[in-house]
Amino acid sequence: MKRYVKIFTYGCQMNDLDSQKMYSLLAGHGCEATDSTKKADVIILNTCSVRQKAYEKALSNLGRLLPYKKRKPSLIIAITGCVAQQAGSHILERMPYVDIVIGTHQLHRIAEIINEKAPGSGPVVETSFSDCIPSLDIIPESRFRESGHRSYLNIMQGCDNYCSYCIVPYVRGREISRDYRSILQEVRQHAATGAKEIFLLGQNVNSYNGGRTFPQLLQAIDDIDGIERIRFTTSHPKDMSDDLIACFQTLDKLCNYIHLPFQSGSNTVLKAMNRNYTRETYLSLIDRLRSSRPDMAFSADVMVGFPGETEQAYQDTLDLIERVRFDGLFSFKYSERPGTQAATLVDDVSLEEKLARLRNLQEIQKQITIENNRARIGEIFEVLVDGTSSRHEEQVYGRTRQNSIVNFTGDHSLVGTTVRVAITRANPNSLTGEAV
Ligand code: SF4
Repeated sequence: MKRYVKIFTYGCQMNDLDSQKMYSLLAGHGCEATDSTKKADVIILNTCSVRQKAYEKALSNLGRLLPYKKRKPSLIIAITGCVAQQAGSHILERMPYVDIVIGTHQLHRIAEIINEKAPGSGPVVETSFSDCIPSLDIIPESRFRESGHRSYLNIMQGCDNYCSYCIVPYVRGREISRDYRSILQEVRQHAATGAKEIFLLGQNVNSYNGGRTFPQLLQAIDDIDGIERIRFTTSHPKDMSDDLIACFQTLDKLCNYIHLPFQSGSNTVLKAMNRNYTRETYLSLIDRLRSSRPDMAFSADVMVGFPGETEQAYQDTLDLIERVRFDGLFSFKYSERPGTQAATLVDDVSLEEKLARLRNLQEIQKQITIENNRARIGEIFEVLVDGTSSRHEEQVYGRTRQNSIVNFTGDHSLVGTTVRVAITRANPNSLTGEAV
């Protein structure tokens, strides 16, 4: 019997990739993807719980599915990802109409669990952790991938760092690295089907340890024919080794861009966050990366209003931002995550103060981003074209190696190709140019 399946995905690129894997697994078991919630026989919510808001959104969206279940009692509702792992069977206490709860280490079982679910049988909750994560090795079918020219790959999952505010080690488990041979085999497969950019994913990729070090893995991917660009995320400053920094100088395909979260510019706050580096070591890392690759571009995550963040500590964060001059920042206000070490601290920065600090920080970063963009006017960049603009059909857009978005005149035939573009205009979050 054919079943239609719809997956709602929340959160990061790793969840996007997990959803592509689930679509592929289910397609192998007689399911067909649909965009229509009404038509779906199986609805999966693939969730994120990294921030309280995301956690609540996932549960509220689950609540919205009740009318569909009432209209079609055979509908199977499943929840996967971090919220499923964190809340487990408690979800059923609040929402007894949920059929399946699958945690982050059991994703590979989704098709089998759905297929074996008999009508009227009780809910299935599978949230155990294991020593290996088979879903890391699943390669999504190309029809479920976002684009043919950029391929996302998991190289590891989980985290051993236990930053005091973070739920990830509790919901994704300890770090588990995928075997390097499986990764290289997948990269070769993507290269053979036209991928030009390889994007390596993991909660802390630079502590990768799957039979090779992370720099060795990058070197091996750099040697694969057909691949033009390599990117990765996310990195922890404490794991940026000299070998990894050297890769930015020696590996042609490694893009001159890094997302390197710093979270706070205050040593007192960094210590309370259990980040295991200081502002001085972070700034020296930036200097060393710039020495290795002078045109290196940076982005980062930063948080304001962590418990105990004084006005001076906040000013230290702004000072670090001014010194580094990131191209972009993902900035958040602190939100307490139950079960973490920081949840035992007094949340002593008021909501108004957190919001005011966040707004001010974002204004400062906005100014830096536009200034960085203006400095690129007149330069020529290689742009890997991602698609046609939704607003101007005669325009295409793509990314430079530094990860800037560039719009220029062109048609759909350019998608997936690399075009040299001269920058003519700086916009708040992108560049405009002309093909040369
Ligand atoms: S390194 Fe990242 S994923 Fe790991 S605990 Fe810290 S913030 Fe969370």
